[in-house]
Amino acid sequence: MEYMQRHGYEQFVACQEPSVGLRAFIAIHDTTLGPACGGVRIWPHPSEDDAIMDVLRLARAMTYKSALAGLPLGGGKALIWADSRKDKSEALLRAFGRFVDTLGGRYVTTEDVGMTPFDLEHIAQETEHVVGLPTSMGGSGDTSMMTGLGVYLGMKASAVAAWGSDSLEGRVVAMQGFGNVGANTARHLMGEGAQLIVADTYEPALDRAREIGATIVDPEAIYDTPCDVFSPCALGGALNGDTIPRLRCAIVAGGANNQLLADEDGDALHRRGILYAPDFAINAGGIINAAHEMGGAYRPERAREVTERIFETIERVMQISKGEDIPTYVAASRLAEHRLEAVRGLKAISR
Ligand code: NAD
Repeated sequence: MEYMQRHGYEQFVACQEPSVGLRAFIAIHDTTLGPACGGVRIWPHPSEDDAIMDVLRLARAMTYKSALAGLPLGGGKALIWADSRKDKSEALLRAFGRFVDTLGGRYVTTEDVGMTPFDLEHIAQETEHVVGLPTSMGGSGDTSMMTGLGVYLGMKASAVAAWGSDSLEGRVVAMQGFGNVGANTARHLMGEGAQLIVADTYEPALDRAREIGATIVDPEAIYDTPCDVFSPCALGGALNGDTIPRLRCAIVAGGANNQLLADEDGDALHRRGILYAPDFAINAGGIINAAHEMGGAYRPERAREVTERIFETIERVMQISKGEDIPTYVAASRLAEHRLEAVRGLKAISR
């Protein structure tokens, strides 16, 4: 409760249904701009405290992500405390869907780690408050294509700030994680003639990277690899006190969520003169795509148009950071908070 008060959370829900082994948490950070939207993650955290902190941090990041992307959505996230490989079942997902439904649309769920669009179909049997459904159901489908596009454009905007041109031709990009987001970002990079160095812990992912002409390095070596851009596209916490001193790049721009282990790590990148494209600004393509499934037919062209604005957002963040000599994550947070503050004022007008 003290953490919720400090960071302005609205609501936290714990759900359990022993008949199907469901233990889940739903965190609603802020609904100023609209219903709280964010994926449900299935992850076997070692402790309840870890699970709760994970879902709280992710929910808050969603508020900032949607605010900065100009979406009519608030921030929320859910976590099913389980192992997706062993525990996931139709009954478990439907039980979770029922709990989502009890919130009456204050929280809208979608896909996250441990989930597939197929799993969302089970949730959709119990609630209409779900987006990211397969295109065959009229949904927006795989979010990672639009996320990859946004990361690529954000990288180009960062290039403008670093080198005065958005061209990535011949630039060396060291990518950590070649999953859905990494591969989709890489497609654009290779199309422009960038050189790609990839690290992944999963052999099939490395095979895919080799196929498109990437050079492979060990997961630990990726931090020390000389490159123009370091692109974290695996899990959170890649930028921390151990890794930041090792980086040999001008830009950090990637799709992973919660890349900074702590705010101080964003300060450290700023001190080192490394341009960091804040994760919640650059990886918004997925939520932008899913948002365009709400309240009518999914329009991919419109979702793409809004995703393309990530270029201007990152450009602006870099300009503010340079002009005021503040870390980029602070600049991006300020932009998001300005929008939240401005719209919060409207709530005084009753309807
Ligand atoms: P994914 O599971 O498809 O890919 C992650 C890849 O990272 C896997 O190939 C995995 O083997 C690899 N990996 C894990 N640990 C690693 C390590 N230590 N070193 C190197 N590689 C490692 O997931 P994804 O959908 O591509 O998401 C990647 C990141 O982007 C996550 O942080 C996710 O939260 C974030 N994100 C995803 C989306 C989306 O649309 N999918 C949107 C916004 C943010």
